Amino acid sequence: MPAIRVLPEEVVNRIAAGEVVERPASAVKELVENALDAGARRIGVTLAGGGRGLILVEDDGCGIPAEELPLAVRRHATSKLADDTLVRIATLGFRGEALPSIAAVARLAITSRPPGADSAFTLVVEGERVEGPRPSAGRPGTRVEVRDLFRRTPARLKFLRSERAELQAALEVVERLALARPEVGFVLEAEGRRLLDLAPAEGERLERTARRAIALLGRDLARDLVEVEAERDGIRLFGLLGLPTAARSDPGAQFLVVNGRPVQDRLLKSALKAAYGDLLAAGRHPVAALFLELPPERVDVNVHPAKIEVRFADPGTVRGLVIGSLRRALAEHGQRTAGRIATAALGTFRPGSTTFAGRPPSPSLPRGLAETAAAFQAPLAPLPPAAPPGAVEPPAEPDPAAYPLGAARAQLHDSYILAQTADGLVIVDQHAAHERIVFEKLKAGLAEGGVARQVLLLPEVVELGPGEREALLERTDELLALGLAIEPFGPGAVLVREVPAVLGERPSGELVRALAKELASLGSLFTLEAAIGRVAATAACHGSVRAGRRLSLAEMDALLRQMERTPGAGQCNHGRPTWIELKRADIERLFARR
Ligand code: ADP
Ligand code: MG
Repeated sequence: MPAIRVLPEEVVNRIAAGEVVERPASAVKELVENALDAGARRIGVTLAGGGRGLILVEDDGCGIPAEELPLAVRRHATSKLADDTLVRIATLGFRGEALPSIAAVARLAITSRPPGADSAFTLVVEGERVEGPRPSAGRPGTRVEVRDLFRRTPARLKFLRSERAELQAALEVVERLALARPEVGFVLEAEGRRLLDLAPAEGERLERTARRAIALLGRDLARDLVEVEAERDGIRLFGLLGLPTAARSDPGAQFLVVNGRPVQDRLLKSALKAAYGDLLAAGRHPVAALFLELPPERVDVNVHPAKIEVRFADPGTVRGLVIGSLRRALAEHGQRTAGRIATAALGTFRPGSTTFAGRPPSPSLPRGLAETAAAFQAPLAPLPPAAPPGAVEPPAEPDPAAYPLGAARAQLHDSYILAQTADGLVIVDQHAAHERIVFEKLKAGLAEGGVARQVLLLPEVVELGPGEREALLERTDELLALGLAIEPFGPGAVLVREVPAVLGERPSGELVRALAKELASLGSLFTLEAAIGRVAATAACHGSVRAGRRLSLAEMDALLRQMERTPGAGQCNHGRPTWIELKRADIERLFARR
């Protein structure tokens, strides 16, 4: 083996650069973080070629004195650590690695002018070569230009994705930082297009965070956000939560910020997931912007070169605080279904209303719409002498004004309950609503120590696939607590002896197979509680009134009254709304009466 040698600085830098600057987005992140650390109020980012050609970050922060410019690009040189203990880090940067790492893999030019200085100075670095600092023109603040990223490290170039994908990643990085610092203005331009234009948000902390979140995530989200604020043992949590019905199929709308630093933290993510628990189906991700503030010595940020992971000194407290306060916030809004849905429903009707004034439909209308409008304007066919039996039932007993969900009036398509309320109408998805009720009953039963079971007259044999039977039998005790008594039955089957009483006497094969599949695929990541919650959700789904079952008015009213009593009845276990409401005023608007 050759002798051991100390590597030249350039090689050291390039090795380190690999960890810090993985792709254009990581350089963007480091430079924007530097601007924020410099106290900037406005930050501009310009990208070309997805960041490979050019990354330009300008700020109006404190600047770098000319004589310190050469130091700024030296490895492990930083102005951000007051002492050498690493326990009280209040800035985003502290490792003194970003600028030298970028210089190791690109051409870097820094122009900076502290607000008090008469002129700016520029330093240009590329690999080993350093030019300057020399006087130049520049406004107060700092402007960092990165060109030809990775040109000299072809290995890394090969791993980059398309320009579009790299640009998207850079945009997301800036959005995350922008959400963490709503009081700072951000502009991002790429290939001559302005992709982000965020004015500094005003108002107190939660208010400006909400403004920024809405600016980033879309205006229609505004009605679906719930505020959270809590504190425990010196740890403060605040932020915004999306209602379950506003959940998305990708986790991109989750912003987690610890002491002003956007993080990708497993603990926080799993706490967030646990807080929504059974309100969301697998594969749905809540919208959330959560800010955690705690004394810097109680969180270690020096875990990863990119500084996106943290370690908490007391993870249990953090987890408890997050889950507890999020659950409380969501429970308080449990009866609220996403307001957007009713609005959207209204929106779909509106285009037609413009033709109701008696004009012939304009030829520019889309085909389907024009035909519909014409049909509306055609003379009405005479009404049949009497309503067909079953379509209109006599008025129901309850007074519509007496209950929030009103009085049931009819069932449509054997799936939807139409109810009249004091000032409008409610449409209930009977399957979703019943599912929620059954689920809450199961859960309540569970909390009181086990669900009531019903013995099957004829025990049912359920055939199962390999692995599924074992997964199920391993959880016999938990399943029993949930009201399901099973035992092994030959090599590929189980015997079901008892079922949860709420489910009634119905074939349990489908339910047991679904449970087995789910248990077999549950990773070890899931806590026991979550597992039981999911099992209960599956049980509820299979035990509920299916869409397509005809209900009597009395049955419908009973379901409505049960919904009113059930916590979280605004959504089913899959996060879909269970009911929507149209106010009388909305209906009148649809008919152009207002
Ligand atoms: P770190 O941010 O970890 O300190 P960097 O390599 O990112 O390391 O930056 C080195 C130093 O250069 C910083 O500590 C700071 O003093 C200075 N600096 C970098 N960018 C800026 C900026 N935009 N405005 C003011 N100073 C900056
Ligand atoms: Mg830095």
